[in-house]
Amino acid sequence: DELISQIAAGEVVERPASVVRELLDNALDAGATQVTVRLSAGGVRLILVEDDGLGIPREDLPVALRRHATSKIASLQDLEAVGTMGFRGEALAAINSIADMSLLSRTLDTDHAWQLDGRTGEIKPASRARGTSVEVRELFYATPARRKFLKTDATELAHCIDAVRRHALVRPDVGFAIWHEGKLVEQWRACSGALASAHSLPHHDQRLADVLGAEFVEQSIAVHYESSARRADGRPAVRVWGRAGIPDAARARADQQFAYVNGRYVRDKVLTHAARSAYEDVLHGQRQPVYALYVEIDPARIDVNVHPTKIEVRFRDSREVHQAVRHATEDALAAPRA
Ligand code: ADP
Ligand code: MG
Repeated sequence: DELISQIAAGEVVERPASVVRELLDNALDAGATQVTVRLSAGGVRLILVEDDGLGIPREDLPVALRRHATSKIASLQDLEAVGTMGFRGEALAAINSIADMSLLSRTLDTDHAWQLDGRTGEIKPASRARGTSVEVRELFYATPARRKFLKTDATELAHCIDAVRRHALVRPDVGFAIWHEGKLVEQWRACSGALASAHSLPHHDQRLADVLGAEFVEQSIAVHYESSARRADGRPAVRVWGRAGIPDAARARADQQFAYVNGRYVRDKVLTHAARSAYEDVLHGQRQPVYALYVEIDPARIDVNVHPTKIEVRFRDSREVHQAVRHATEDALAAPRA
């Protein structure tokens, strides 16, 4: 089982940033409102993610490290409609097989925390406010071949920050902080009034400005589109919102392209192509596409679990989504500007 976990780890964990992503997913799934990421040596030496979420009851601590242990799906139907980030129950087991790991957690109904040592399985009382701290030390110590492929600490740190940024751009209601070698490197405060369920641009703009810079918001246009096709509950089958940037050529940054599907960051050819086509059509390639686009789509129209890293999504009707994103972006870019 250890070996299987290590193989799974190879799929899930490519570098420290992959661990950061998984731990952030878990923290957000647990309802955290503040998440702090502490790193050392670009995350290779230490990744510590602290949240103020629901916590893990003492009896569930060992379970959390077991393969295919997930508290998030009870049935196959759940898998279809899954609203959580994780659901494979693989991440912690995988990470535990390739690093020194500990879980420190406290739920609301207990007067102290418990700490589980991932290596020995030992559980002892500890102290902490409600929430969970997951500590991951010496990543890939057991697989030196993988460790050799890591880049410099600065590069690995940059990837870790990217991972947090991707979460921050879709959860303005949650505060994020990143520390490296004891120094605060990024901090994005929770935006007041920004309810996760609100999914509306005014609430989102503050976070976009904090993370991508005020000029991103100033030099961009609101995107809004709803398909005429409806879900069973009457909501649009596909909704696209966000901001499409028209930065000064000199300021354009190629790495500012963020696309989300149902709250998950994705890198997807259909979405990228649709957005790029809109920029070509309206601005004839005169501006670098920079955008934060949020696609909300009926879960029945996508397959999420196609890749171990969950970064990919398969649309059942990719033409429908392509047209939605393309039209949404074109309308925004073509709108008269003040
Ligand atoms: P998954 O997220 O797919 O369920 P993981 O291996 O990432 O699988 O996590 C296993 C389980 O550990 C989760 O289902 C959850 O019950 C628990 N867990 C992990 N991290 C946290 C956290 N930060 N707060 C609360 N529970 C957590
Ligand atoms: Mg998870």
